[in-house]
Amino acid sequence: MIYPKCENGERLYVTSSSQVRPCCWLGEKGNINQDKKWNLNHNTIEDILNVQLKEFVKNLKENPKEWAQMACYGQCKKPFTSIEKPTEEWLHVKT
Ligand code: SF4
Repeated sequence: MIYPKCENGERLYVTSSSQVRPCCWLGEKGNINQDKKWNLNHNTIEDILNVQLKEFVKNLKENPKEWAQMACYGQCKKPFTSIEKPTEEWLHVKT
């Protein structure tokens, strides 16, 4: 069982090539590191947070054998507490 700490977008990591990862623990391997839908040069941060990340977390929970990396088992194998839906609050902040 995986309890993704990346679930609410609190752990986002962006590489120098604008590739977004759910967290900094993930290495270079994995589907999303090659996926343009996770790259800010090809997609918006809103879509990454609202669509790609949610789909990734759903896949992690439903099928960890296919989607989880070693880091997921190492960092996110225990339940954790978090405030509810902070991502939505970030997206609606006006500057
Ligand atoms: S290690 Fe895996 S489950 Fe944990 S925050 Fe990173 S991507 Fe999400």
